[in-house]
Amino acid sequence: MKVSEILAQSKKAFPSIEIVPPLRGITKNELLESIAPFMEFKPKYINVTSHRDEFEFREEPDGSFTRHLVRNRINETTVCAAIMSRYDVDVVPHLICGGATAEEIQSRLDNLEFLGINNILALRGDSMTGEKRFSPTPGGYAYASELVKGIREYQGSAVYQRNRREDRYFCIGVGAYPEKHFEAPNIETDIANLKKKVDAGADYIITQMFFDNKVYYDFVDRCRAAGIGIPIIPGLKPLSTCRQISALPEAFSLDIPVELTEAMKAARDDKEEVYRIGTEWCTKQCKDLIAHGVPAVHFYTMGKSRNIMEILRECF
Ligand code: FAD
Repeated sequence: MKVSEILAQSKKAFPSIEIVPPLRGITKNELLESIAPFMEFKPKYINVTSHRDEFEFREEPDGSFTRHLVRNRINETTVCAAIMSRYDVDVVPHLICGGATAEEIQSRLDNLEFLGINNILALRGDSMTGEKRFSPTPGGYAYASELVKGIREYQGSAVYQRNRREDRYFCIGVGAYPEKHFEAPNIETDIANLKKKVDAGADYIITQMFFDNKVYYDFVDRCRAAGIGIPIIPGLKPLSTCRQISALPEAFSLDIPVELTEAMKAARDDKEEVYRIGTEWCTKQCKDLIAHGVPAVHFYTMGKSRNIMEILRECF
């Protein structure tokens, strides 16, 4: 079922989870077992992130350079197919602009449709390791709004229609940043850019993680004032280690409230207590969001399940 239909039909907030495909070496069974605990809560859908392969150039004895794969994950379509083979749950593969031409993206859409997958989270993607700014592939897309437009145009194209496939077959989600995307000069510009994704045909929005619900409520108000009417699903992640207090703001350009930071630091010698504090904070956030009538809550699992399970048990 499309996420937009699930949202329209759902009478109360529901949880969804996001997983990161494993690096090479893990078996299909190991991957599916890692998801198994979540199935107790019957998530309506599972998002699967997308990552570009990383390469390095090595100099050969003759002075030429050859390209070598140094890091790759099992791709999101394969992981989605594996999940569908075992569990009765919808999947939402992420589709990124980075590293692909528009035609290659059309080919990925064909593969998804072949598998019966009609949900996508459309993103620009991050820059490559060592790259300061994201650089689009020649013949590809520079922004997620272009990707959304490209998907909608492909579905309206003669080639697509010739096969009599459904117009707007894909339900498209997009990302948003309550604390502003780090490249945007200000939140107003960032929201104006978010609106471009909505105008291009996005069906719903999932936010970056945040640790202060007020940030999310203010953001939703600003989006509504800017004419964005589609559902805005909050994204949450419980802190589980002290290291994340510096790592997450650095990686995702977000704030962690003083109260949470101080509590985690005070407990730094007791790993289990640190874990408990992070889980409890996120549980409170989740309960408050549900009380405010959010349509759904999206959890960034980063491959870990214990804390998320505790939160799901408390809140849903
Ligand atoms: P965009 O919407 O294209 O925005 C990127 C920047 O460009 C913003 O600063 C925006 O204000 C600006 N901008 C947008 N349009 C224009 C325009 N027309 N002119 C000028 N400026 C413009 N990354 C991955 O690599 N893989 C994943 O699976 C993944 N999953 C994610 C899931 C969620 C829910 C979220 C919120 C993020 C995810 N990311 C993922 C991270 C994301 O790819 C990065 O944050 C990336 O830097 C921006 O992606 P975007 O789709 O938001 O980009």
